[in-house]
Amino acid sequence: MIDVQRLKDRVCECIDAHREEIVSIGEDIRTHPELGFKEPRTAGIVANRFAALGIPHTTGIAITGLKGMLRGAESHVTVAYLGELDSVLVRDHPDADPDTGAAHGCGHNAQIANLIALAYGLVESGVMSHLGGNIALMAVPAEEYVEVEYRLRLKQAGKIEFLGGKPEMIRVGAFDDVQMALMTHQSCRDEKGKFSAGAPNNGCVVKRIRYIGKASHAGGSPHEGINALKAAMLALQAIDANRETFQDKDHIRVHPIITKGGEMVNVIPADVRMETYVRGATVEAIMSAAAKVDRSLKAGAMALGATVQITTLPGYLPRLVHPKLVEVYKENATALVGEEEWWEPTFGAGSTDMGDVSHLMPAVHAYARGACGTGHGADYRICDPDMAYVAPAKVAAMTLIDLLADGARRAKAILEDYHPAMTKEAYLDFMRGLAQDVVWPEEQE
Ligand SMILES: [Zn+2]
Ligand SMILES: [Zn+2]
Repeated sequence: MIDVQRLKDRVCECIDAHREEIVSIGEDIRTHPELGFKEPRTAGIVANRFAALGIPHTTGIAITGLKGMLRGAESHVTVAYLGELDSVLVRDHPDADPDTGAAHGCGHNAQIANLIALAYGLVESGVMSHLGGNIALMAVPAEEYVEVEYRLRLKQAGKIEFLGGKPEMIRVGAFDDVQMALMTHQSCRDEKGKFSAGAPNNGCVVKRIRYIGKASHAGGSPHEGINALKAAMLALQAIDANRETFQDKDHIRVHPIITKGGEMVNVIPADVRMETYVRGATVEAIMSAAAKVDRSLKAGAMALGATVQITTLPGYLPRLVHPKLVEVYKENATALVGEEEWWEPTFGAGSTDMGDVSHLMPAVHAYARGACGTGHGADYRICDPDMAYVAPAKVAAMTLIDLLADGARRAKAILEDYHPAMTKEAYLDFMRGLAQDVVWPEEQE
């Protein structure tokens, strides 16, 4: 039998040998942020490294995604390690792209550095020839659910169907040969500790809302108009009135914004736009809250005699936790940084498309604390380059070795008694079933 510890040491040495380069890749991406489905430069960096390392890979998956494949001595299981390519919009961030306003306010630049560091470690150590499974290295576009209008145009052009990167990679088959997935997100929260994993988080649906009223002179003849802004305001109050029915266990978050409130101050608003997420801990909770939101939106229209158009878009599924897989990850994280540097996470009220992946296969979404400041905020920084760019790759490598050594014994044990929450087909049906375009009241024949 091979000495697993020696394999882990060798991979970590190979990662350390490239430390300077890995940090400079992470910093280069940090200063060249790209928004979701528009990450050609970042994807190009990954492709170049894969090519230099001789890793067979496919590019252009879900527009900018990539998938490299490292084969083990046997192919009992394929485990994916994921890195997200995109950034967020934070115009006042010092690193923000002056043209697009994009900035790495969520640390995804570190995820890509981790992915490349892992590739160096796995290839240069020669570890794959000792493993009983394959490792898919995947760079994934568009984790952040932003620029909805732009993505709807991509959808209309037939370039995507779903507005998030992982749902789209699932749809086009990039996960078809993958049985397990890992990734590491940067955390900037206040918890003491360097690594964490194992808490679920919210899923969401996304709504675009349009109130259609009737324009008229706001001073001279408001009685001839239908005020779409008043309808929207009533709807917001009706949503707020429903909040007392949301139960703590469901972690519901509804946070609507008005993106267009009218045209001119002396015209009764006839076209008012809103957007909201409806987040919750379970699909049932999300659907129940979303029905209350729809009811509230219609109530606003009814009171004013306006029309409301509600476009519902599938967002992300709640993230499920696989405790046995988390355990393998935790063993390796604590081996690297010590027991005292592990923090037990609490429920996350945000949403990520790793939730979608977690419905199809055992998945770990870990956190590493290499960042500080406010997530998605102007003061977000990488404040510990080793924790951001290097250490997560080592923990990932060691976890993958544990899963795949000895004929993939531990990975096979995890999969043996695992039943996915959804099959791919059920998932696609569910997502497609969520998409809805409702006009209320319905036009009379
Ligand atoms: Zn993120
Ligand atoms: Zn984010």
